[in-house]
Amino acid sequence: MNWHVNILTIFPEMFPSTLACSLSGKALQRGDWSYNTINIRDFADGVHKCVDDTPYGGGAGMVMRADVIEKALLSIKEKGGNSGRKIYLSPRGKPLTQKLVQELCAEETLTLLCGRYEGVDQRVIDAHEFEEISIGDYILSGGEPAALILMDACIRLMPGVMGNTKTPNEESFSEKSGGLLEYPHYTRPFEWKSLTGKIFYVPDILKSGDHKKIEEWRKEQSKTLTQERRPDLL
Ligand code: SAM
Repeated sequence: MNWHVNILTIFPEMFPSTLACSLSGKALQRGDWSYNTINIRDFADGVHKCVDDTPYGGGAGMVMRADVIEKALLSIKEKGGNSGRKIYLSPRGKPLTQKLVQELCAEETLTLLCGRYEGVDQRVIDAHEFEEISIGDYILSGGEPAALILMDACIRLMPGVMGNTKTPNEESFSEKSGGLLEYPHYTRPFEWKSLTGKIFYVPDILKSGDHKKIEEWRKEQSKTLTQERRPDLL
């Protein structure tokens, strides 16, 4: 299956960025996923190719124009493509959770609209029924890093992208972990002297070879960590 993403942006050079590296980069080369950027500025009129204007009602900043974004969006179909599920990356959107990532990864095509300035004219969001998705309760300077994060989270769930096919199921927020945070990990050496002078050991249970007890210990650690750090997940 090929998972395709259309990206509406005024900074096409920001893609594929980190997604060209490591496992997502290999998956891109294999053709497991693909993307194309649509430069919104190419659809603006005039010598200055202005994509933004001052906000009605006054206030600071500029707003991206509905007509320019609409032309950029419609160009996908005009060139024989499909816009699929349309998403505007926005701090006002519903939170990007692991459950939503799984849903998005199962779509064939996404179109991601990356805002800049104060955001985009509400009318283009309404007219084309963009779904708003936020990557967290903080403000970025643009939607591009949010689009990269959304894509990264989806790509690693694709069959064959991770070396160990079991890994994605057992992680924090997954169904298998009961939606909890993951237990702590340890590797060799068993005894490790930090440069701080302190000596640390791997918990004995992990060396016991008793898989049932190890699983119980991990579940307990998961619950305790979640209780301490993210009680909202319980
Ligand atoms: N004025 C907007 C507000 O207060 O909600 C913030 C605009 S922000 C400076 C510019 C663009 O960055 C947004 O249009 C959006 O595309 C993107 N962005 C910023 N924070 C984001 C977040 N937490 N999640 C997703 N996209 C975000």
